[in-house]
Amino acid sequence: MAKRGVLVPALLLLLAPATPAPSSDVPPPNLARLGTVPDWSGLDPHQGTITREEFVHLLRHCYTRGPAETEGLIRIEGDRALILKQSNHPEAGWYDLRFKNGAPLPSGTARYWRPPVETHDLPPNSSKPLAGLRIAIDPGHIGGKWVTWDDRHFKLGGPDTLEVREGEMTLIVAKLLKRDLGLLGAEVFLTRESNHPVTRERPETLRDEARAYLLRRGQIPTEKRITDTAKVMFAISSEIRARGDLINDSIQPDLALCLHFDASPWPGGRPAFRSPNHLHLLVNGCYAKAEIAEDDTRFEMVLRILQRIYHEEIRLADTVSRTLQRETRLPAASYDGIQGKSVNGNEYVWARNLLANRVFLCPVLFFEPFCMNHRETHARVQEGAYAGLREINGVYRKNIYQEYADGVTAGLVRYYRQQRRQTAPGERGGS
Ligand SMILES: [Zn+2]
Repeated sequence: MAKRGVLVPALLLLLAPATPAPSSDVPPPNLARLGTVPDWSGLDPHQGTITREEFVHLLRHCYTRGPAETEGLIRIEGDRALILKQSNHPEAGWYDLRFKNGAPLPSGTARYWRPPVETHDLPPNSSKPLAGLRIAIDPGHIGGKWVTWDDRHFKLGGPDTLEVREGEMTLIVAKLLKRDLGLLGAEVFLTRESNHPVTRERPETLRDEARAYLLRRGQIPTEKRITDTAKVMFAISSEIRARGDLINDSIQPDLALCLHFDASPWPGGRPAFRSPNHLHLLVNGCYAKAEIAEDDTRFEMVLRILQRIYHEEIRLADTVSRTLQRETRLPAASYDGIQGKSVNGNEYVWARNLLANRVFLCPVLFFEPFCMNHRETHARVQEGAYAGLREINGVYRKNIYQEYADGVTAGLVRYYRQQRRQTAPGERGGS
């Protein structure tokens, strides 16, 4: 359908490989784990495309925890925003982003994803309400023998009890969604189809990077610290960045769904059942000052603002949270305003800055339903992906994976029917 790939070269240029500092006077840049030095000219296509009012609103309302978080890093002037290029080296200068001043917008948009208004028109009552959409599904974490690398697995109960493995559970949901969203007309792509990592790196290949990262953070690179950091770099940073490359360079979807299951913390390091069970969805936002001080993170945050990803993300999250809540019957989870903040008064939707919902350069819905260490969730995981309904605490329910998938599917259908109905020509003023 749409001409994909036209923007790829531009996107590839946005992030150049990290280069060593040219002289000892210039400190190594402050970057997120396995981050790359941003090429600030990647913001050039967005010059003059956003008003001062909207830029400041998005920054304050969603992306930062408060005005103090951008102090010394982003300066808002009358007709422009100045963005520090290297936070620990002001001599590198400021990127000068001019605000829209009433001049007509340049044609075309420097992004690969399309809001519903730009996807093709949909006939009323179509049986394919997701036709024309490209959807990427990211099953969170890794499974199989890799499950131990990121601490998202545990065993509770006797010897016959199944181990709970988030990375395998998310893949089950992803495959159900791929089938169901495909039947409704969407083109669906999974970032992984098996329980193997997407990244080619391994903890052993990341030890030098881990050592350099620790040194940049002023920490002594002991063997244990290097091992621990390399492990996180493999299972989280490298793995998610590899999936981000797939999404941004190849799949180029209109929407990405990051599938996860939540868990409540257990005191003392031993798995334990906890209450309550709950549900929340995340949109990208709520950056801390330390995160905005990372050059690549600051660049990525500003790029999301300029692409107006927030508006699409929050409308989607609002709609899908309601259908998912109806399916799962879960109460809302909450944040303290620091780790995550509320942006639209929906108690099921929170803004939070995670690597995946920052580097996947399109609207991202990040799902966190069900606490895996809640008794009921744990019991439902033991039941597996059964057909039909089974009685769970006095209520007949689908298996937990299908319930998750159905809640997501219902929300997407509702959202795209609403959005496309409003914009389809010939339907205005109709019923
Ligand atoms: Zn997770």
